[in-house]
Amino acid sequence: MGDKPIYVTQPYLPPLEEFMPYLEQIWASKILTNSGPMHQQLEQALCDYLGVEHISLFNNGTIALLTALQALRITGEVITTPYSFVATTHSLLWNGIKPVFVDIDSRTLNLDPAKIEAAITPQTTAIMPVHCYGHPCEVEAIQKIADNYNLRVIYDAAHAFGVQDDNGSILRHGDLSVLSFHATKVFNTFEGGAIICPDEKTKIRIDQLKNFGHVGETNVVAPGINGKMSEFNAALGLLQLKHVDYAIDCRKEIDSRYRELLAGIKGIHCLNDAGEKRANYAYFPILVDENYSITRDGLYQKLKDHGIHPRRYFYPLISGFSMYRGLPSAQHGNLVAAAVAACQVLCLPIYPGLATSLIEEIACLIKA
Ligand SMILES: *Cc1c(COP(=O)(O)O)cnc(C)c1O
Repeated sequence: MGDKPIYVTQPYLPPLEEFMPYLEQIWASKILTNSGPMHQQLEQALCDYLGVEHISLFNNGTIALLTALQALRITGEVITTPYSFVATTHSLLWNGIKPVFVDIDSRTLNLDPAKIEAAITPQTTAIMPVHCYGHPCEVEAIQKIADNYNLRVIYDAAHAFGVQDDNGSILRHGDLSVLSFHATKVFNTFEGGAIICPDEKTKIRIDQLKNFGHVGETNVVAPGINGKMSEFNAALGLLQLKHVDYAIDCRKEIDSRYRELLAGIKGIHCLNDAGEKRANYAYFPILVDENYSITRDGLYQKLKDHGIHPRRYFYPLISGFSMYRGLPSAQHGNLVAAAVAACQVLCLPIYPGLATSLIEEIACLIKA
């Protein structure tokens, strides 16, 4: 392997000179934030690209999650997955909400709809599923349960930029969907995020909440936060959007190459082949089971020794962290499939510019 460490992702950056005209516009306008022209253009461009009606930009995905819960006045208990990044449930704690963990489906690693009903109590007000690795949740089954029990559904769609199902954007499901534009995500604005809103009224409320709860010049109607995306980040988004299809195409090729090269290795399983579906290839998770020659952590270490740094997303489970493990729903027996996945998963490097020779060497190391 070369001298440089190979990480699981490398942020995509368009040529720097393409960014200069955007900076010149910002410098000329002297509008740096507070829903300026770049912000407005990016909201429109993202609606067009994603095929959604309303979007509200944020300074990051975590503040967007916090605000999504606040906007819908979610209280009490919210059903969610332990197999995610910790921001998912932190957003609940910040709103004084009790997370209730439900196990995942071991085939999709998403919240298992068949296990949701048993976790519903009179305090339950919403479900917060995650489209893990950008693979769509069983949105119809989840909506059916939500309708039966009068629950809201807020998707943590941080991994799901550009993903579609048979009817269009996956982001149109549920009451709200929340995106992250962090540097490590498929579409990035360095830091950033967004909420997909179903109607104009909800967008206006969310726009107010991300601006301290201000309504007009002289009135404040809620304890809102500063969730605004700056003009600099919005400009980055406008530029990135021009290149995102290219970036996703590159990821798709890497995904197929891994699948070819890793096929038939005993104890190694590639997850959810998107096939012809519009996916984003955000991650390339493999499961390493007991039929493989060494343990998952053994393989993790072996790759690291060769300068390759895969990630064990999501190990440990959120339910294992100190501020969550006392919850009744965090007990191991309640989350068996999630616990198995956390011990088997390894996310391999996938990003535009990852050399084919490196993909082959990684596959060779896994095979040997
Ligand atoms: C990245 C991520 C977030 C948080 O997004 P930030 O923009 O980094 O705040 C939330 N949930 C999931 C599942 C994520 O992967």
